[in-house]
Amino acid sequence: MKNIVLYGAPGAGKGTQASLLAEKFNLVHLSTGEMLRAEVAQGSPLGLRVKAIMERGDLVGDEVVLSLIDKALTANLTGEPLDEWDTHRRQRAIDEGRPVAERIVPSIIFDGFPRTVQQAQMLEFVFSRRRMKLDAVISIDVNRDELIRRIHERAAISNRADDNEATIRHRLEEYEEKTRPVLDYYKVSGLLISIDGGGEISETNTRLSTLMEHILAD
Ligand code: AMP
Repeated sequence: MKNIVLYGAPGAGKGTQASLLAEKFNLVHLSTGEMLRAEVAQGSPLGLRVKAIMERGDLVGDEVVLSLIDKALTANLTGEPLDEWDTHRRQRAIDEGRPVAERIVPSIIFDGFPRTVQQAQMLEFVFSRRRMKLDAVISIDVNRDELIRRIHERAAISNRADDNEATIRHRLEEYEEKTRPVLDYYKVSGLLISIDGGGEISETNTRLSTLMEHILAD
């Protein structure tokens, strides 16, 4: 079982590439953006809290995102459909360090997370509690002009509330200020691998697939 973070600026193609890799290598794909959009679409209490934040292009609070990741890990690592009570029971077992029955351990690809250094540190804590570890962080590098061009292109066809002119600029500012330091964090830990993501989707996918084969076989 491997745990891989796919890192990149808004528009770098994380979501597209993570979906392709998940299908090809049978990975669990955890996208915090998708989880948050699902909460907003359901109109859940959490969704109501984060809707305006996402529409502005701000980052949602670290605790909120971590709680979604923790819940998704519990659901995916136990491999069973979870009702509320089951989730609670299993989480308690994890918290108390007791074994959780029938663990299925798939490899996981994280998309859009961690987005702050604090989230990266919190992920380490969550992993250590579950006796898991991060195996690789793959950064998809794309220059700023190309990022802006891609987000505009996506804005023309998507119905994402945060794909508009003012928000796009703000999301890139949030990225520079809060997310870019995550790269240095992982560079220091020796987990970072960078690839060129400036070309076609298929080119980037070929590079990523070669890399994934090595990581998964290791
Ligand atoms: P994405 O789909 O990854 O581009 O995320 C869309 C929006 O969801 C972001 O602009 C943030 O408002 C929010 N979001 C997604 N992931 C995170 C995260 N890890 N931390 C904070 N906010 C997030």
